Amino acid sequence: ETMARVIDGKAFAGRLRSRIAAEVAALKARGITPGLAVVLVGQDPASQVYVASKHRQCIEAGMASFEHRLPEATSEEELLALIRQLNADPAVHGILVQLPLPRHLNSDLVINSIDPAKDVDGFHISNVGLLGTGQKAMVPCTPLGCLLLLRDLHGDLSGKDAVVIGRSNIVGKPMAQLLLAENCTVTIAHSRTRDLPAVLRRAEIVVAAVGRPRMVQGDWIRPGATVIDVGINRIPGEGGRDRLVGDVDYDSARRVAGAITPVPGGVGPMTIACLLANTVTACCRANGLPEPE
Ligand code: NDP
Repeated sequence: ETMARVIDGKAFAGRLRSRIAAEVAALKARGITPGLAVVLVGQDPASQVYVASKHRQCIEAGMASFEHRLPEATSEEELLALIRQLNADPAVHGILVQLPLPRHLNSDLVINSIDPAKDVDGFHISNVGLLGTGQKAMVPCTPLGCLLLLRDLHGDLSGKDAVVIGRSNIVGKPMAQLLLAENCTVTIAHSRTRDLPAVLRRAEIVVAAVGRPRMVQGDWIRPGATVIDVGINRIPGEGGRDRLVGDVDYDSARRVAGAITPVPGGVGPMTIACLLANTVTACCRANGLPEPE
């Protein structure tokens, strides 16, 4: 029995971060330091972990990191005022508002108040529209990370049958747009899709972004397919500690797939590396310099 090749996102992200650090060093030699501002409202534990690791990786890459931690009770006016200030600050090239926001804040309004040129998450409607019309956009970090892994593995993706499971604005929809731009034949599956196993059976590329632990079974997967597992799900593990699993049942899927990302160590590390890459890109554009590849 042959096992799928394991796609090492952790190693790939490490190489990407070294390239970014070199680009940052070159910018600093010209007196420009790329800067990322991260705004966190409230105490969501997962968000706190993400924000801390974004901060650390920024610093490690030589970039400036501006953290803004605001109390849960922050009003929309206060948050919008901070974003206006960051939009106007020339030391800030990227702005990220950590989601989810507390319920009393309108996240569409908040995201759309970010200067699109500084919108390194790629969630502003201008960037969504640019991506959808094939124009130069800021591309959301997680789907971009998935695409880099797929390109590295396959080279040209043209003509491939791809199924994206999930249609969120953060992962599923932009992933589908990116694959379409790569000339894949794209199907988007979601909670109302009938007979998901049958839809998956023709997929040469599967991207699972569902948020349901180990939902996708090995026998749903076409033999030899590439499986990208975006899911990060916390389930009870041994010794009372939680463990992370993906949206794909890894043990059965790796017996069928040609290549598969593990969880953790697959897509996860790519997301922050792509955030750093987007910040450097935004910095280059702001300074009229050529963008890194
Ligand atoms: P959302 O909850 O926003 O979207 C989930 C999608 O899955 C929805 O479109 C939903 O359909 C669909 N879905 C739910 N149940 C089923 C089902 N039974 N069959 C088919 N489709 C289904 O999640 P996100 O897109 O934000 O995140 C998805 C996963 O990716 C999560 O595990 C999250 O933790 C992880 N994630 C990882 C990141 C990383 O690696 N850095 C970054 C972001 C997310 P419908 O629209 O019909 O409700």
